[in-house]
Amino acid sequence: MKKLFDRVFDGADEMYSIAEKALCDAVEELGGDAPLAMPNTAYYLANFLSYTTRKVTTIGELKEAFEEAKQWNIHDQNMGAVFKTGFGVFMAAEAIEACKYAKGPDPYEGKYHGHLSDAEVRELGVPLVTNDIPGFVVVYGKAPSDDEAVDIIKGYQTRGIFVFLLGEIIEQARRKELNMGFPVRVVAVGPDIWQVAHIISFVNRAAMIFGAVQPGDRWALDDYTFWRIHAFVNVYEPVSDIVVSCGAGAIAMGFPVVTDDEKDMWPVPKSILIQKDTQAFIETSLEARDIKLKITNVDIPVAFASAFEGEIVRKADTRVDFDGARFPSFELVRTLEAHEIEDHSTELFGPDIDDMPEGESLGIAMIAEVAGKNMQTDFEPVFERNFHYFINCAEGVMHTGQRDIIRLRVSKAAFDAGFRLKHLGEILYAKIMSEYDTVVDKCQVKIYTNQDELPALKAMANEVYDKRDERLLSLTDESVDVFYNCILCQSFSPSHVCIVTPERLGLCGAVSWLDAKATNQLNPQGPCQIVTRDRPLDPEIGIWEDVNENVVASSHGNLESVSLYSIMVDPMTSCGCFECICGIEPYSNGVVIVNREHFGITPLGMTFPEMASMTGGGVQTPGFMGHGKHFIASKKFMKAEGGSARIVWMPKALKDMVRSKLDATAKELYGIEGFTDMIGDETVAEDPDALMEFLTGKEHPALGMDPMF
Ligand code: SF4
Ligand code: ZN
Repeated sequence: MKKLFDRVFDGADEMYSIAEKALCDAVEELGGDAPLAMPNTAYYLANFLSYTTRKVTTIGELKEAFEEAKQWNIHDQNMGAVFKTGFGVFMAAEAIEACKYAKGPDPYEGKYHGHLSDAEVRELGVPLVTNDIPGFVVVYGKAPSDDEAVDIIKGYQTRGIFVFLLGEIIEQARRKELNMGFPVRVVAVGPDIWQVAHIISFVNRAAMIFGAVQPGDRWALDDYTFWRIHAFVNVYEPVSDIVVSCGAGAIAMGFPVVTDDEKDMWPVPKSILIQKDTQAFIETSLEARDIKLKITNVDIPVAFASAFEGEIVRKADTRVDFDGARFPSFELVRTLEAHEIEDHSTELFGPDIDDMPEGESLGIAMIAEVAGKNMQTDFEPVFERNFHYFINCAEGVMHTGQRDIIRLRVSKAAFDAGFRLKHLGEILYAKIMSEYDTVVDKCQVKIYTNQDELPALKAMANEVYDKRDERLLSLTDESVDVFYNCILCQSFSPSHVCIVTPERLGLCGAVSWLDAKATNQLNPQGPCQIVTRDRPLDPEIGIWEDVNENVVASSHGNLESVSLYSIMVDPMTSCGCFECICGIEPYSNGVVIVNREHFGITPLGMTFPEMASMTGGGVQTPGFMGHGKHFIASKKFMKAEGGSARIVWMPKALKDMVRSKLDATAKELYGIEGFTDMIGDETVAEDPDALMEFLTGKEHPALGMDPMF
């Protein structure tokens, strides 16, 4: 019998020799000076960067880095060295993949996902901290049958586990027409074991982005992957040596491996679990990694899981389409007296889907009425905004927008499975009662599809929205007694803390002051704590002694002082999941803002991932700051440096999104009409010269302001 360690070494040798050949071919074909980069990342080849600190940018540099990696493959039976071999294997695998990307940014032509972008890493920040994604699984090999392949993938997906697929299981899932992709959290990474490099790169970047782990700091990296990334591996038999060598790396990162292959698995370390019954992989894995699931039981005929949040229902697959842009529609939460509510009832006023022609577009209204001793009307919009997440969790049901601009589609497949409108009520009831149980005692849902009734109902809803907007406008940082902190992201960025105020929402964009207040009242021991604001030190820059005290305590001493309105003086830290990043543009005395969705270059010569990598991990970086989209139009945005008049460039889509509010703010603060049009975007400038020309032509106010440093 061959010993496990020897299998690791043989497998490593195999991976290195494949890499060696790929490199030789690449040098021959493209030359040593040929540039080499993974698309949409600021972390070079992240595995090489993490383990050796090398920043590889050409094929020649990759060759040098690879020579160094070879020293990690020394066939030493000492446990530490065996693990190190595993990391070396990941570098060799990354070299193989990098050679493909040297030839073009999409070597798999959409057939496999391959490399994951920095934006994708960052996108998972919030679902990870809220435990909507309780863990990651890498499934490799070929399941015993196509049906079992689908069962295990969907089994993980419905439990919220993010699924990476490698090898033949991808084809098995395709034959069964399983819906895969990053948005539904099932990623077909690639057909071969060396594409594991992309998954490890993803993990290593998460450690650098969220955990501020420095390249080369193996202890910090090990600590981070073990404690913060709840990942594990499933491998179907037969397990070859090269797969075993990758397993050594996975185990070194703290990721247990579950397999049904016991042949030549000797001696078996604790982190390899032999489970002969492949149908029990899920259970064995979750137990091994000690993963706690967050499950709400919702009694509906389709699957219900956060993985379906990103699912898209296409027109051709749509049974019914409720379209708020064309037909009066809305959703609303209302507080009533307890006696007015029949708990858990859903009433439908109008026809159900059966009586609607296939593919028809119509209007719909959904009203959830709640009562509770501790309920406050301020919580209504907080619950209501979550309808989007609640309803999207149902497989085959798609929801976009909020208030009276909603769109709701039910797929033919969901309809055939028995989904009807009363199930919308079931979803809303179950989620509201489980998420807000400390303030809601009773809840009932009313759904209206009677098209004649909708216009009058919508007018009523609009009155409620208007009242709320008035209240929101009256909420300023000066008008409230307290702010809140949010430390949700500390599970990934251990020293990060957001201070959330009425005029400055959390940088993820998901936590407004009202949200934080609701979170605090729902769970006083939870992630949002009250921050008093009694002792001002410099309210112009946004510094309070109370806030500083709180920040010192909640960052475990990592921060001393935070200013809420400046990006130069002790700016708020960034965790990594920010919606936008802004950075100083020195020629115009202004700032450039770019959102995560924008892939192009900015006039700073950097893309979003590059700018984003300048900050993060709970560290203060004057001149760069992560923030939410809604902060842009706030009167407190960079108030210390002169406010939103400093904004000189934003992607066009972001401009359009914030235009009306930003214009109103600029009019009030500076008396400027149509300010958003004075801001450059990618259609007029992607470099500083073109930007300056544009700004000069527009007489942009930043040009006349003092330099920021
Ligand atoms: Fe994370 Fe800040 Fe958002 Fe809280 S408000 S979830 S700490 S980014
Ligand atoms: Zn975060």
